[in-house]
Amino acid sequence: MQDRTGGSIARIEFHAPYHPNVLIRLFDTYYSIDGACSNRQDRYIHWITHFHFDHIRSSVAGGADFLLKQDEHITIYAPHDPTPVDECSSVFDIHRKLYAHHTKGKRVLVPVMPGEKIQFNGTTLEAVPLRHSIDNFALFIDNGRADFTVLVTGDWLGSDEENREAIVSREPSILISECRYVNERSYDMTAERMHAHLRDLVELRELLPDTVIIPYHISRTFSNISALNRIFDENNMVFGKKILFYEDIMQYEVTEPY
Ligand SMILES: [Zn+2]
Ligand SMILES: [Zn+2]
Repeated sequence: MQDRTGGSIARIEFHAPYHPNVLIRLFDTYYSIDGACSNRQDRYIHWITHFHFDHIRSSVAGGADFLLKQDEHITIYAPHDPTPVDECSSVFDIHRKLYAHHTKGKRVLVPVMPGEKIQFNGTTLEAVPLRHSIDNFALFIDNGRADFTVLVTGDWLGSDEENREAIVSREPSILISECRYVNERSYDMTAERMHAHLRDLVELRELLPDTVIIPYHISRTFSNISALNRIFDENNMVFGKKILFYEDIMQYEVTEPY
């Protein structure tokens, strides 16, 4: 057993099996992906993978903007989605206005380009484009202090060869992947909807033997959590609401099941 007196070095938290929200703590820095906002700008990264409503609603609503000092802002990184909505604005533009309007200018969307790398508190954040029905940027986190990396997919087409290559080539220590459906008969439908299926993750499992795979953002049509637990367990994947990681990532601990 790992000596745990020094405590965990990372914690990964989900809101619910079907939610796209992911909160990662790596040492003393937090990464909120498609999730709620914090006023602690010195410690928090806020990241939006793509502009589907379930991925933005937590960061546009709620939160404690009143705790911000005057002139303080919350920065939210989001894909520079240039798709035109009308003659003068893009998908990114209308969302920047939406956030500014609802938060009286307190939350500022900052555009991220495909492949862009951002430095924060000794961490490199990389926007990894993964094909989905609209522009989606997975977040690849590489923290200089730990010898492990984390990749959070957002929504992605699991059967796409380039997508798979983008993930496999980075050999993440922890892969947090959307897994919309798990039944074999749903495979074609999952691909048509540009999502990822259990079968795609099982294939990645083969290609990434040293990676801890955590499925998330499961379809709401699954209400039988114990069946999901069994399926993911059988496929050597980690499924849980709160997971702690220690120096040896294989010594992870699910501290709160769904
Ligand atoms: Zn989604
Ligand atoms: Zn989506």
